[in-house]
Amino acid sequence: MTLSLPSLNPITRIAIGLVALLLSLLMIVDMVFGLIPDRADFAREIRQQISEGLAIQSAALLQVGDIPTLQRTLGDVLTRNKELRSLAVRRSGGEIVAHAGEHDRYWVPPEDGSSTVTQVRVPVLSEGKPWGEVELVFRPVMPESILEWLAYPPVVAMLTIGAGGFLVFYLYMRRVLEYLDPSTAIPDRVRTAFDTLTESVLILDKQSRVVLANRAFRALHPQAQEDLTGKAVIEMEWLVGGFNVAPDDLPWSRAMASRASVGDETLEIFRPDDEGQPLRTIVGCSPILDGHGRLRGCLVSFSDVTMLHRINDQLLVTLSDLEISKDEIRRQNEELQRLATRDPMTGCLNRRAFFGSADPLYAQLKDGGEEVCCIMSDIDHFKSFNDRYGHAVGDQVIKSVAKCLGSELREVDMLCRYGGEEFCIMLPGATPEQALDVAERLRSSIERNAGAAVREIPDIRITSSFGVASIRLGAKDPAELIDQADNALYQSKQNGRNRVSLWAGERSVGAQH
Ligand code: GH3
Ligand code: MG
Ligand code: MG
Repeated sequence: MTLSLPSLNPITRIAIGLVALLLSLLMIVDMVFGLIPDRADFAREIRQQISEGLAIQSAALLQVGDIPTLQRTLGDVLTRNKELRSLAVRRSGGEIVAHAGEHDRYWVPPEDGSSTVTQVRVPVLSEGKPWGEVELVFRPVMPESILEWLAYPPVVAMLTIGAGGFLVFYLYMRRVLEYLDPSTAIPDRVRTAFDTLTESVLILDKQSRVVLANRAFRALHPQAQEDLTGKAVIEMEWLVGGFNVAPDDLPWSRAMASRASVGDETLEIFRPDDEGQPLRTIVGCSPILDGHGRLRGCLVSFSDVTMLHRINDQLLVTLSDLEISKDEIRRQNEELQRLATRDPMTGCLNRRAFFGSADPLYAQLKDGGEEVCCIMSDIDHFKSFNDRYGHAVGDQVIKSVAKCLGSELREVDMLCRYGGEEFCIMLPGATPEQALDVAERLRSSIERNAGAAVREIPDIRITSSFGVASIRLGAKDPAELIDQADNALYQSKQNGRNRVSLWAGERSVGAQH
């Protein structure tokens, strides 16, 4: 059967082993060199001296026959000497003259007549002849009970050395094993393997002290280049300062407390040479557990994502530049679109854009049997404005009329500058009656407002004539519808201008006004 000490930790076992070794060494040295004096020899000598002294004293008292004093002396000697059990003075004939203690009980005379270390006999001479002897019974030299053994000086010395040695060895070994704990020591090949990683790695013991810092980690900061083994990570201000949290909230502390990995913590490391541009890292922590699920430490990795951040920042700048150019392009496209589809002077649709939209729309409405009307409008006696006030005023008049037309129309209506001072309006969904109403509203608006907008010429009177045509009379396309509306317009001109006419087949009919 093997003796196992499962509850003792390695440090205690080593300390016990060292104490045992020390005590064995002491015993060997004692055996060889007699380090501890032989107690029995020493006791024998002392006891001999006491006995002989007593024998001389007894002989003197017997000489004068003072038995009472002899008796008292024996009693005094017994009380003073704790090692004595009993003593007596005996005549050669065997008769006890005086005694102290229970001498009959303890006295066991050695058979050969000599003395032992507990039974001592010293002859008493009277006038040069043997008279008798003094008998002394001493306690055994070696302890007899456990308590006596415990008080026995060599045992006390051994116990003291053993306990003191254990304490010293334990503390020393604990200190030494903090650095050399075989369970956490990293073999060289493992260390080399970690050094080949580009990722910075730190292995901590469960007290968050560094067991291993790989080459990439040592390159993170100038203060990481010293030997970090055994150093408490909390002392690395350059590292933990970046987290700005209590020690218990540091990622590795949390990983070890929860025994679960902690990842994706960002950490900025400020280095003296980086001119305010910190090293950006992502920290991941995995607790290290042994085969029995006991926590041994934590593996902390730092991925340098500084370059990624820089590229990201640059990308953001480029993206925002792109966004700006995109807006600019969109604006320019809109401008191009406007230039391509609109008349620059009035902002009305040009003919190309107008027909581009009107043709498909007309076909669709026609197929659906829906309503659509066209209004043609021409400024009355426009030539006279040019002639009297010049071309610039003529332009002002055209713009002012266009503005009046535009402000009276719906979103879906299409207003086109058809020629110099001619406008064409497509009104999807409008019946001839509605179109006539619109045309009349436009005519009235121009009559009332267009002149006021031409500031240069006060009281200038501007009017327009209108012709309306509806899909109902069977125009096959917008061009034909416009033609019909133009015919109606011609009628309005014929009938005195500043009026609205509706195309009614072969001829147009005058409407209101
Ligand atoms: P009516 O009432 O019969 O329409 O008379 P009118 O003077 O308007 O006759 P007409 O249609 O012949 O005149 C159109 C004139 O408009 C001819 C042309 O010089 C002038 N014109 C055409 N386009 C522009 C332009 O963009 N600006 C200016 N100022 N004049 C233009
Ligand atoms: Mg004209
Ligand atoms: Mg005209």
